[in-house]
Amino acid sequence: MNLPEKFGENVFNDSVQKETLPSEVYKALRATIVAGKTLDVSIAGTVASAMKKWAVSKGATHYTHWFQPLTGLTAEKHESFIEPEGDRVIMRLTGKSLIVGESDASSFPSGGSRATHMARGYTAWDPTSPAFVKEGTLYIPTVFVSYTGETLDKKAPLLRSMRAIDKQAKRILKLFGIECKKVSTTVGPEQEYFLISEEEYLKRKDLQLTGRTLFGAPVTRGQELEDQYFGVIKPKVAEFMRDLDNELWSYGVLSKTKHNEVAPAQHEMAPIFTTANVAVDTNMLTMELMKKVAKKHGLVCLLHEKPFKGINGSGKHNNWSLNTDKGLNLLNPGENPESNTLFKLVLTAVVKAVDDYQGILRSSVASAANDHRLGADEAPPAIISVYLGDQLGALVDSIVKGENYVAEKAANSSIGVPESPIFPKDATDRNRTSPFAFTGNKFEFRMLGSQANVADANICLNTIVADALEKFADELERESDFNAAVNALIERELKAHYRIIFNLDGYGPGWEPEAAKRGLLNNKNTADAVPVCYEEKNVDVYVNQGVYTREEAIARADIRLENYVKIINIEALTMIEMAKRDIIPAVSDFVATLCQNVAAKQAVCDKIPFKTEKDLIEKLAKLNDSTSAAVAKLEKDLKGVDKHDVRPASQAMAHTVIPDMDDVRKLVDEMETLTSSDYWPYPTYFDILYSVK
Ligand code: ADP
Ligand code: MG
Repeated sequence: MNLPEKFGENVFNDSVQKETLPSEVYKALRATIVAGKTLDVSIAGTVASAMKKWAVSKGATHYTHWFQPLTGLTAEKHESFIEPEGDRVIMRLTGKSLIVGESDASSFPSGGSRATHMARGYTAWDPTSPAFVKEGTLYIPTVFVSYTGETLDKKAPLLRSMRAIDKQAKRILKLFGIECKKVSTTVGPEQEYFLISEEEYLKRKDLQLTGRTLFGAPVTRGQELEDQYFGVIKPKVAEFMRDLDNELWSYGVLSKTKHNEVAPAQHEMAPIFTTANVAVDTNMLTMELMKKVAKKHGLVCLLHEKPFKGINGSGKHNNWSLNTDKGLNLLNPGENPESNTLFKLVLTAVVKAVDDYQGILRSSVASAANDHRLGADEAPPAIISVYLGDQLGALVDSIVKGENYVAEKAANSSIGVPESPIFPKDATDRNRTSPFAFTGNKFEFRMLGSQANVADANICLNTIVADALEKFADELERESDFNAAVNALIERELKAHYRIIFNLDGYGPGWEPEAAKRGLLNNKNTADAVPVCYEEKNVDVYVNQGVYTREEAIARADIRLENYVKIINIEALTMIEMAKRDIIPAVSDFVATLCQNVAAKQAVCDKIPFKTEKDLIEKLAKLNDSTSAAVAKLEKDLKGVDKHDVRPASQAMAHTVIPDMDDVRKLVDEMETLTSSDYWPYPTYFDILYSVK
């Protein structure tokens, strides 16, 4: 295969645009894509017809406006290109159909920001993310807004947040005498996932209905041997990965790295970073393709954040930075960060933003599924803090404490084997335990869930950093002695936000009490994390940056809680059904068999011992009764929740229903360890986690 030739073959990308569009039209389109100029509508017809011609040559018969409603998924409605002409048809895509589509908005979540009788919604072309052909359809990336202009998707606010940060970053650059057309946020999302066999998957209602196992005793061999991470990839998994890469590359996704992750059956794919909105679109496409390709191989790709209790969950590391169209990375410290004032200022803005708005940043990654990771065993804690590493940590310390900074020269490393080359050592070690870590020339936000749309976290990051940059620009533009003013500002702001910096072990027992002393938030679940979004200051920042209206900001928080309530409700109902219809009867049958065995032994002669059976009968019968009682309590409590009033409902789910579910699970998992595998109704963790050979 000729990879460079195959790469992006299904994408209407820059080179295809250049080839197929008249040069005036091409230039006008580029001005929109590269410099953010408002799209010249008069070119739409020409672009549409070139796009259609190219798509048809790739076998397309349909087109769809592809959008990202607040369900967290993508949505599409396919229209064929056909148009009657006499008794024949021609294939056509008009400029209007490219630019705007109409869609019934009433069936998508809106957080009550729109009455259901006002159903009209529009999808509008996002020319900055390239269209592509998939399975006979031309996919046109679009934003989704209501008739009255409210955003109903994740993309419109993302684009607005990118505009906001572009505007403020350019003001800062101007103060440093740097001109550029555009500052883009760049994002590289590393995607973790599980692969299991479809056969086992189809035997588990919980996996099918909720994406995770609601029951399952720990497996005797989990991840303690630490032999899976970066381990040899199994042949069947390797085949899947090869197929996936080919698919991803054909859609222009810059898939770069693949490896085994920490848990059995867990893997990761990391792409090369790109502009934030393209990164979001391609990550959505990546998740879809992972599922599709897995199916072709008789596998199922689980993107849930915690499919298996007691086994590492999956996340998405969101690498985030700011780059000008001339290739300057604003978060690149360079050789001498101490004298790189622009870098120090941008770094300070990020530190300030994360400290001031830790609540909404935490909330931007909150979901029922991600609650199993954050603040639990392996993931970064639910407390937001910033890790800077040794070098920058020392630099910031010196600024805050007014001490002299002695730059530690980047050392060389020798491994003590003369044949091996000496290589330059990185200035910072990795810190896996930080939720928000500086990693060389970017920040890595590690709290995102594996199935999340990464738009949410990036909308928040862009908005809050834009806000900090705006405040800095407002102040600095007024000053006559820029150099003195900028250094004073950096010192003042780093001092003010020093509490958010934490360079030590975030998993250690000392961090929670220390964070509490520093006054940092520690919201462990979605129900407790989201309410900060209703606070005045947290709404204002979105409104001031032109990202959300007040109503939109509130609606998004409501939707997050609504989604949480719905998911816990589905999980609880699934749990009740599995327990009542499968597990309790299975244990009862096994107990009955044990009883028959005892009776059979006694029938032969009363000297045959049956202590084993008797103990087991007693234990299991008791556990089964307790399970019935626990399920009844769960049912009752669940019924008592008024699911329509999402704010109190989410509290009830988090603090009553989930503890009830934990109780049911504990009993059932114990019964699993005592029940004959012939009777247990579901594949065990061993069956599932080691199902792919
Ligand atoms: P690390 O050594 O920290 O793992 P890598 O170079 O392997 O860093 O990159 C990890 C991820 O970060 C990749 O997805 C990569 O494309 C992305 N990345 C690198 N530079 C940037 C940047 N300037 N902006 C956004 N993401 C970036
Ligand atoms: Mg990783």
